[in-house]
Amino acid sequence: MNLKNRIVLITGAARGIGLAIAEKMAEAGAMVNIVDLCESDIESALRYLKTRKLSAAGFTANVTDPFSIEKVVKEIIAEHDRIDILVNNAGITRDGLLMKMSAEDWDLVINVNLKGTFTCIQKVIRHMLKQRSGVIINIASVIGLIGNAGQANYAASKGGIIALTKSAAKEFAARNIRVNAIAPGFIETDMTKELPQDIVTNYTQAIPLKRMGKPEDVANLCLFLASDQSSYITGQTIQVDGGLIM
Ligand code: NAP
Repeated sequence: MNLKNRIVLITGAARGIGLAIAEKMAEAGAMVNIVDLCESDIESALRYLKTRKLSAAGFTANVTDPFSIEKVVKEIIAEHDRIDILVNNAGITRDGLLMKMSAEDWDLVINVNLKGTFTCIQKVIRHMLKQRSGVIINIASVIGLIGNAGQANYAASKGGIIALTKSAAKEFAARNIRVNAIAPGFIETDMTKELPQDIVTNYTQAIPLKRMGKPEDVANLCLFLASDQSSYITGQTIQVDGGLIM
């Protein structure tokens, strides 16, 4: 898959799925810009990429802060004069039963996952519309499709991302901008590392392919959706879940 000289912005890319996407896209020749919250995490991601003989630019910004995202976009435009690919990957969980969930935990998850995706699209889309080309990939979750007890905030945010993806795809298709979502299942990252072993075993048994996914499994689909090989695909949500939901 060739992304030679494509300018990419990936949020939440200092680790986990975002970093795997950054690595795949850089390997495919893209000029990768990673955004994350913590400067030292970004530095360690850039060091990791360097060990793989890959380079990227890093920016400290928070997807809940439109001004910080605007600043990143301006810097990328100043350097490259365009943005070809946006991957909205930054996401968090604050799990708890609905009955006991605090309004703060509800707001935080919706603000980072859903509103953060909206904000990044809004800041980038002006440039893509002018270019008359672009690709947006939103990282949703299977939980946004099926819901989950104890994750009402997360499920609502990811379901919202799926609906946002379809609306944006309809709005921007005429300008040759494709918008798709990826719904990962159960992927081995820091987000799932803290789960108790019995829950991991139960989940894994329910997955037809009998294993958790790896960040690279998600990154491979992301690479395809970013490339010209998927030029007739827009508005879709594609699962990477080992067959968990079918
Ligand atoms: P992760 O390992 O927790 O990495 C997420 C990254 O996003 C972290 O570096 C985090 O920074 C950053 N981030 C959090 N809030 C941010 C904000 N407001 N602005 C900018 N960056 C922010 O998560 P992951 O497992 O790779 O997940 C990546 C995406 O895939 C998420 O959207 C997640 O919902 C989705 N997903 C994951 C799974 C899974 O099983 N892992 C399944 C389905 C969907 P800090 O570390 O500083 O917080």
